[in-house]
Amino acid sequence: MLTNKRPKILIIYTGGTIGMIENPETRALQPFDFSHLMDNVPKIKKLDYDIDNIQFNPPIDSSNMDPSHWRDIALAIEERYDRYDGFVVLHGTDTMAFTASALSFMLENLSKPVIITGSQLPIGEVRTDGEENLITALQVAAAIDEKGRPRVQEVAILFENYLWRGNRATKMSADNFNAFKSFNYPELAEIGLDIEYNANALRKMQPRPLKVCTDMDSNVIFLELNPGMTEQTLKHLLHTPGIKGIVLKTYGAGNCPTHSWFINSIREAVDHGVVIVNVTQCVNGGVNCSLYETGNTISEAGVISGYDITSEAAITKLMFLFGQGYTPNMVKKYMASDICGEVTIP
Ligand code: ASP
Repeated sequence: MLTNKRPKILIIYTGGTIGMIENPETRALQPFDFSHLMDNVPKIKKLDYDIDNIQFNPPIDSSNMDPSHWRDIALAIEERYDRYDGFVVLHGTDTMAFTASALSFMLENLSKPVIITGSQLPIGEVRTDGEENLITALQVAAAIDEKGRPRVQEVAILFENYLWRGNRATKMSADNFNAFKSFNYPELAEIGLDIEYNANALRKMQPRPLKVCTDMDSNVIFLELNPGMTEQTLKHLLHTPGIKGIVLKTYGAGNCPTHSWFINSIREAVDHGVVIVNVTQCVNGGVNCSLYETGNTISEAGVISGYDITSEAAITKLMFLFGQGYTPNMVKKYMASDICGEVTIP
């Protein structure tokens, strides 16, 4: 905590529905600037905080997010890390879980709150969820415990009634106000009349200098199985030029077809140095390859388990690890370890 008793919070406005207005011609929502957003939340002034802001220029719909934007957010935090008690990132919901996961890997030793939020309805709408999400995110970013340490020392997503670990959350609804959920990890806090923090679930960090690593390698893809996938399609995807890592989205507990053309194509890609991570298509539960032969065969072909990691965390973790210049064997080693709370290794 800084000596100044008023919490000092930085808002980073990237765009998303929360700040959007309707285009009068097309009637489609499009991002608008930060002052419009603030004008719609006058009660922010009632918080006894020092709040500064920076914004993406122009603000964007989060479907346009890419690693260069993650880099901008991470560097903005690094540059101002010592000057603020906490950070609130306003972001579209569509790719929020990817950004939250990416930032969790990029911001090594993070011991201050980075709270990402947005909304389902624009801030200018009468029934908006944006006002409440923004105010609560600021309160969570400013919250300290009895010893004056930040309650939240990690990247988290605040949405409606819950605070979730960023690299464990998934967007689960396109229209419900409770748009996010973490199916394999408990909530970090429940938002009701009070904000009830779940001390056992929150990360506890030793204050160490923040280390920011922003290099991400985009030579990674999702390969989602469907019954009827042809050999031609599979081979086409496995032979994507330059590909280094694949998140293989499998059935149930990590099961795949056992046809020889399928297994042989996968084995061939692994032998050529492609790291293939098995992540289940199910939102709840994880990969357990020893359960069925259909899971066993794929692990014998060299596919590694993603355990209970989310797809968003798996793909951004691969981008991050290859971005650090690691060899396929090193990437496999780190994929099988918990870097910042993203996976439960049995
Ligand atoms: N398309 C919007 C975005 O992700 C959706 C939202 O913010 O809810 O930017």
